[in-house]
Amino acid sequence: MKCIFCQIVAGEIPADILYQDEEAMVFRDINPQAPKHLLIVPKSHISSVAELNKEQMALVGHLVWVANEQAKREGIAQSGYRLVINCGAEAGQEVSHVHLHLLGGRSLGKMG
Ligand code: AMP
Repeated sequence: MKCIFCQIVAGEIPADILYQDEEAMVFRDINPQAPKHLLIVPKSHISSVAELNKEQMALVGHLVWVANEQAKREGIAQSGYRLVINCGAEAGQEVSHVHLHLLGGRSLGKMG
């Protein structure tokens, strides 16, 4: 059974997809925590950032580049935004597929 983000990447379940390229896909979070809440995922299945090896660091850089481009498209590049990666249980990671949260469109406050 594929994970939910692999199913979105494969087109097996719907999502509000905003961008994709060979390595990455961007879609809106189904339960947004801010006026702008996008998820940036690698197309390949990697369960968490803790699983990334050194050769995959270029992929992480690409995901951040994609996030920055989406922030511009969403009109929050100037006002500011937050990129979050949850890793593991105590960080609240629910989906075991690497993803960056791109949050913005309101004052986000300090990290708790
Ligand atoms: P995390 O807690 O960091 O693992 O974040 C997982 C995120 O995925 C949560 O913010 C969920 O709202 C979001 N999510 C779960 N299922 C879907 C889905 N089918 N489409 C879009 N976002 C989803």
